[in-house]
Amino acid sequence: MKPIYLDNNATTAVVPEVREEMLPYLGELYGNPSSMHTFGGQLFRKIEEARAKVAALIGAEVEEIIFTSCGTESDNTAIMSALESFPERRHIVTTRVEHPAVLNFCKHLSRKGFRVTFLPVDSSGRLDRDAFVKSLDDGTAVVSIMYANNETGVVFPVREIGEILRERKILFHTDAVQAVGKIPIDVKDLPVDMLSLSGHKLHAPKGIGALYVRRRTRFYPYIIGGHQERGRRAGTENVASIIGLGKACELAQENFARETDQVSRLRDRLETALLAECPDATVNGDTVHRLPNTTNISFEYVEGEAILLRLDEQGICASSGSACSSGSLEPSHVLRSMGTPFTAIHGSIRFSLSRYTTDAEIDRVIEVLPPTIRELRTISPFARKKVICPK
Ligand code: PLP
Repeated sequence: MKPIYLDNNATTAVVPEVREEMLPYLGELYGNPSSMHTFGGQLFRKIEEARAKVAALIGAEVEEIIFTSCGTESDNTAIMSALESFPERRHIVTTRVEHPAVLNFCKHLSRKGFRVTFLPVDSSGRLDRDAFVKSLDDGTAVVSIMYANNETGVVFPVREIGEILRERKILFHTDAVQAVGKIPIDVKDLPVDMLSLSGHKLHAPKGIGALYVRRRTRFYPYIIGGHQERGRRAGTENVASIIGLGKACELAQENFARETDQVSRLRDRLETALLAECPDATVNGDTVHRLPNTTNISFEYVEGEAILLRLDEQGICASSGSACSSGSLEPSHVLRSMGTPFTAIHGSIRFSLSRYTTDAEIDRVIEVLPPTIRELRTISPFARKKVICPK
């Protein structure tokens, strides 16, 4: 049975058009794009075509796109490049709600002796602007703040942040892995120096990403070796996946307006119905500045894992901010940073839709979930005693 897949912030399906485009490069066209002969060399042109498609989706110049192995590599590369560019500056500013690709890398750098400020957010997951401005000093090499949060969908004020940083001449990197293809981004008109994206969040395969680096931004490669990617990222290119990413970006651009309208309509319908049918349910995060495809809902007095298991039995895929199910033993650091009560974190479920989500699928979730919550509440230990959040 085909699952009802509402976990698109975790990963997305590789769509048939993307797969088709990739297949020859996993078969007969196996050459090395750096080769002198035509058999390999012809692939170089295909990579450049894909680069142009990625660039077009975010309004970049073709040479401003570097292919990487994933969003994580793009994030690590951007931060490291800034630190290498300004060796006299030892300070990094980021937020407490970043994806581990930034958060854990910054913790690692802090252990290596760099000074890192982890900025707080308010109860709706929005950046504390004053704390941000106060955090900047002459030693700040780079600010890395996500475009949109993967758990709540909250969108950060990237333009405002960038304008402040441009005035202060501080490099700005944004992790736009969850934003690209979901909301309009035009780097021509946006004061960011570096921006990360990842293929598997926009219907391309896993294991391919890209980093946008604005022209004339000082750049140091993170992966060092051969001359690929104009000397900015060594390693023989993942040709098939690069071509897949190019196709996925082209599709995202072609279908953008129509599909985001449809996705947000379905998301809103799901959210409204669940809030109406389930007492003691609340949406986590700002609902105005939010991705069109994401809703994160806390169902008090139930454990998220129990909800997920019941949904799974019905072929419905979602994810939770509570222990274990998200692959970690910690409750969501994002919801904790927002000051969400412990019981609400443990009952939180994230639904993330895609342009392939249908009305019938949303109807099914609306039919299945409210009775499940009612039933779980009759047996949940959270329903009977108040649990205090450990610090
Ligand atoms: N940044 C954000 C906001 C993400 O959601 C993810 C993946 O979930 C990443 C970075 C990491 O991307 P990748 O899985 O391609 O390394």
